[in-house]
Amino acid sequence: MADVGRIVADIAGEMRGEEHRGKVASYIPPLACVPADKFGLAVVMADGSVHTAGDADQTFSIQSISKVFALTLALGAVGDQLWKRVGREPSGSAFNSIVQLETEHGIPRNPFINAGAIVVCDLLLGRLQPREAIGQMLRFVRELAGDDDTIRIDETVAQAEQDTGFRNMALANYMRAFGNIHSDVGMVLGTYFHFCALAMSCRQLAMAGRYLMHGGRVEGHRVITESRARRINALMMSCGHYDNSGDFAFRIGLPGKSGVGGGILAVAPGIASIAVWSPGLNEAGNSHLGQLALERLVQRTGWSVFEPRVG
Ligand code: GLN
Repeated sequence: MADVGRIVADIAGEMRGEEHRGKVASYIPPLACVPADKFGLAVVMADGSVHTAGDADQTFSIQSISKVFALTLALGAVGDQLWKRVGREPSGSAFNSIVQLETEHGIPRNPFINAGAIVVCDLLLGRLQPREAIGQMLRFVRELAGDDDTIRIDETVAQAEQDTGFRNMALANYMRAFGNIHSDVGMVLGTYFHFCALAMSCRQLAMAGRYLMHGGRVEGHRVITESRARRINALMMSCGHYDNSGDFAFRIGLPGKSGVGGGILAVAPGIASIAVWSPGLNEAGNSHLGQLALERLVQRTGWSVFEPRVG
């Protein structure tokens, strides 16, 4: 049995010495100010024990990791109807790409690229005002993380995205032209930007991901059905890292979702919920050291879902 606490501490130590750390995102101005030397790792085990190292308690902008929580809420609200308006295939394109929308009639490839998450927000606004949807999301992640009131939305980040998110505006307007956005585009984007601007620590994020390791349940409470939890994990595996998803599955072999803030949430079903953060990104906009750390973690623990299980 692997000594997970030891492995987590070792990996954080190794990452501290890494010279090549990737490039911190700068297209959202407040993210550009985050120091590249940060690194945090948190692992919550199925038995509830928690192992952390480095900057695991420092909050960062979770950005696209929020797409997992938004999808979970939207499936709860509208059910499988959602799949009429969002696909389930990897895009093989950048997170903010617009090209496929033309030939695919405004139906985004999956809920984990920007276009897909914007449609997911629109689905939530079928029943709620933006303020209510944002409040619901905040309550949801606080409840999932078992954290009463410290998780917040960083308004500076949300505003910066509002001021500079021209591509997202283009995506939303383009999908609106195809009839795949029903609410006011400004309200949909405002909701989307606020979700992306959630600030959480690795510890909080790993806690919030527990329902995905436990088949949709957390502490005896059902968050989502077992089959939906399984399917969200499948989508995280196939689509969670944009045009880098194949490589993530190849190297790490876990369902995972990244964000341009440098965070990654990864799930070893039945074993652990893992969050890692290092702000420097690779070409595809995924945390460079975050991926390296996860690769070492699965090598040392055997947690890849492709590892033969005995029993
Ligand atoms: N808020 C970011 C955007 O819309 C999210 C992108 C990401 O984390 N990959 O561009």
